[in-house]
Amino acid sequence: MPLLARMLTAPLSIDVRRGAIAALGELLADRRIATEGRVAVAVGRGQGDQIAEHVRPTLQDCEVFRVDGASVDDAVGLGSRLRGGSYEAVIGIGGGRTIDATKYAATLAGIPMVSVATNLSHDGICSPVASLEHEHGKGSFGVVMPIAVVVDLDYVHAAPKRLVRSGVGDVLSNLSAVADWELSHREQGDPIDRLALTLARNAAEALIFQPESIGSDRFLTVLAEGLVLSGMAMSFAGSSRPASGGDHEILHSVDQLFPGTANHGELAGVGAAFCFFLRHEFLDEDPARTRTIADCLRRHRLPLLPKDIGLSDEQFARAVVHAPQTRPGRYTILEYLSLDESTAGKAVSEYVRVIGH
Ligand SMILES: [Zn+2]
Repeated sequence: MPLLARMLTAPLSIDVRRGAIAALGELLADRRIATEGRVAVAVGRGQGDQIAEHVRPTLQDCEVFRVDGASVDDAVGLGSRLRGGSYEAVIGIGGGRTIDATKYAATLAGIPMVSVATNLSHDGICSPVASLEHEHGKGSFGVVMPIAVVVDLDYVHAAPKRLVRSGVGDVLSNLSAVADWELSHREQGDPIDRLALTLARNAAEALIFQPESIGSDRFLTVLAEGLVLSGMAMSFAGSSRPASGGDHEILHSVDQLFPGTANHGELAGVGAAFCFFLRHEFLDEDPARTRTIADCLRRHRLPLLPKDIGLSDEQFARAVVHAPQTRPGRYTILEYLSLDESTAGKAVSEYVRVIGH
């Protein structure tokens, strides 16, 4: 008999609500993630102490570790401490940086990782990828995806608004990433995974017309679920393809050439809007799509133009030209057009003129 379905890796549990952290102990016991209660908790610098005090009563026998940063060295250091303590599981609690370092450490230690997100800045909360700093900049590392995902909306409401908003840019950029995936399928014959593509695209489609913003629980739930779906799409595809196209190449390029301009989700949003503008200019695609994405970014007060991230039009054009080199082997609208400096400069000026008002 033919195999009629495929098996996919997904978290055992996803819990998005206010007060979700208080149920961590039950989650670990009910799902048999830590039956003996030997659990490590990794927290970041920000709200770390407060969170550690909050979770201690729900976990009988946990040891709390501080994660100082999101470098490979920080993650490797945590990994060796986890291995030394023979824990059943590690819970990473915090923003994207703490979760990424904990995912990597858990993979090194060979134990399951529970991801507890206290802000929604990017789709790393449930992805099989960790973004970590090393001596030459930032890199993406394959890791085991979290065994359970918890998003506590009380903490998300208390997180810096700018970080929470930026998750919107990361989810929206899926639209650009899947358009690039389809382009590379048409032009290069790259294999396409329609299930992964569907998850990634619908995460963004569910968000793009939401009238509310990050003050609303309903909106935050759609955003959190969108980030989780993006992570699962990457896991199903076995690559970051469903959530990373020319948009993320521009993001990485800006980070390399002009470090410190804006955060991951903010730059992903700008990259996605610009890539859609290129599709309209050079592939004759519907300009309404660019407008819809720009309107959504504006509604959530996210950057849209080069000057919004502190760059001149010329600097942004340089980043666009350099972008394909950040991700060798990935074919996107940028590789398809292979823009030289003069054409990129004109495209950026036109983008600013059309989208800027
Ligand atoms: Zn991203």
